[in-house]
Amino acid sequence: MTELSRAAVLDRPRGTFAVETFPVPEPGPGGFLLRTELAGTCATDTHIYLGEVPGIPYPVVMGHEFVGTIEALGSGVTHDTEGTPVRAGDRVVPMPATPCGVCYECVVKPGPVVNCDSYDVIGFTDNSVRSLAGGWSEIIDHRNPRTRFFKTALPAAMAVLAEPFSTSVHGVQRVGIKPGDTVLIQGSGTVGLLAIAAAITHGATRVIVIGGPKRRLEVARAFGADVTIDIADERDSDARIKIVKEATVGGRGVDVAIEAAGVPSAVVEGISCLRNGGRYLEVGHFADVGTVPLNPNKHLLANNITLAGSSGYGADHFLQSLRLLERRAFPYELLLTHTLPLARVRDAVLALTPEGGWKIDGEEVGKIAIDPTA
Ligand SMILES: [Zn+2]
Ligand SMILES: [Zn+2]
Repeated sequence: MTELSRAAVLDRPRGTFAVETFPVPEPGPGGFLLRTELAGTCATDTHIYLGEVPGIPYPVVMGHEFVGTIEALGSGVTHDTEGTPVRAGDRVVPMPATPCGVCYECVVKPGPVVNCDSYDVIGFTDNSVRSLAGGWSEIIDHRNPRTRFFKTALPAAMAVLAEPFSTSVHGVQRVGIKPGDTVLIQGSGTVGLLAIAAAITHGATRVIVIGGPKRRLEVARAFGADVTIDIADERDSDARIKIVKEATVGGRGVDVAIEAAGVPSAVVEGISCLRNGGRYLEVGHFADVGTVPLNPNKHLLANNITLAGSSGYGADHFLQSLRLLERRAFPYELLLTHTLPLARVRDAVLALTPEGGWKIDGEEVGKIAIDPTA
């Protein structure tokens, strides 16, 4: 009898999630089947649900942050991408995005996968063309023989953070955090909180976080934030800029600011918190949620500001993130707060909207993961 896998399918933007079953194929040559243990949900999934991420096909099985055990290896697969031997039953963390390997970007300027002309992504794939290609599924069919995947001994609840952490690690490297830097992080979602760990790991010695709600700011302090500013308490942008500047030496401003909130107006506020010669990183707007007016003289030229954008990551950042998680130098276990079954993916997606109020069953959420076995 053919084995079946359940997966949560979204039919269209703002549509309906249905748990459907699909036949599990044999693993493809050079590929493998993953039995999903946990698959994270993130704001990107909420934006996909709302139809705000350019280029996403529907119907889609979302879920691009996942960890699981190898169900079956395709022909020729004996080691993970780093060279560690693997066999059925091993826990591995695959990178959801796989570059084509042959385009100009891949061959001449290899960098973050999103620079590739035609990369494919588990969790962003047309389910009517290719099924079992999303994380919110019992089995994920990794058919692409170039899939990057790494064996780990971490518990699944921590390994599931490798993907969002990669975004933070790539971001801090992109903006060039140096030892002794004072860093402002705007946003206390998973990428913002993991940016604290990434910034400190890369040398930041003072970290200020603007965000909310309260529990996330407690986690921010547990990760090493020296100053936290709750947007519910400080609603005025100018007041927040003043608090940030006063928290820096001589009131000069921060060396680096990182936008991880995905709120357009945060960009000007963050740039206004920089010292002369400061660097600004945009990592929060994976979705296109609007435009912001910027004064080229006041916000860039006059203060010698450097602007950087960071989308996704490369295999190097992904592996660095997994290894950093394995070191457990930060309280990563505080990030995952809720685990839900496939039947509740809609609750997970809506929790990260004003309508859902960042709550599940009345409780404030951090990272929510889907457990397809539940
Ligand atoms: Zn994500
Ligand atoms: Zn390519």
